[in-house]
Amino acid sequence: MTRVVLATHNAHKVAELQRILGASLVGIELVTYDGPEPVEDGDTFEANALIKARAASEYTGLPAIADDSGIAVDALDGAPGIHSARYAGTRDDTDNLELLLTNLEGVADRRASFVCAAALVVPPPTGAVGPDGPAEMAASDEHVELATWPGTVLTEAAGSGGFGYDPIFRPDDETRSAAELTVAEKDSTSHRAQAFQALAPRIAALA
Ligand code: IMP
Repeated sequence: MTRVVLATHNAHKVAELQRILGASLVGIELVTYDGPEPVEDGDTFEANALIKARAASEYTGLPAIADDSGIAVDALDGAPGIHSARYAGTRDDTDNLELLLTNLEGVADRRASFVCAAALVVPPPTGAVGPDGPAEMAASDEHVELATWPGTVLTEAAGSGGFGYDPIFRPDDETRSAAELTVAEKDSTSHRAQAFQALAPRIAALA
């Protein structure tokens, strides 16, 4: 089995990615790690996903995958965006969701998208050298995929599934909130599903 490290401490993300990647994980053991959390100081989803994947790969010496995600609201110029997890300052899903509802009170344009960047960082083979010879470290192989899941922010929460902003997000072509979808329905269309499906052939090739 090839070990691939998933740069998250979030147990439900591990389960979600196991489901999304499914057959692409044949011959691959997805593991988590306990290293220090890197500072996510990128100003895009892609930059932050790469920061997390690089940190996990450097710490473990293994290929690493990571994601960075959030909700971007048109009327708020893309906020909370990369700050979605800490929007209310508490890291609490309910606080974040309530703050977003408050900030959109009376706002007619409620268009928004969930966004996910999925990153893969593969370290160079042991002993590999850079193009200018042994003095230079060979570079890691890095890929990042960005996907969006467009929809609308509701005026009140509905449903008890999912996490984060799911209860106040209604995907396009849906009558239900993301928190009212089944796990299989969300896995088939979400931003995270699309981003990791785009990365899946590269992950499968590691086996
Ligand atoms: P991350 O773990 O740094 O990527 O933070 C993502 C944050 O964006 C989460 O804490 C959620 O608040 C929000 N988010 C990302 N994906 C979803 C989703 O699928 N449903 C609901 N909220 C999400």
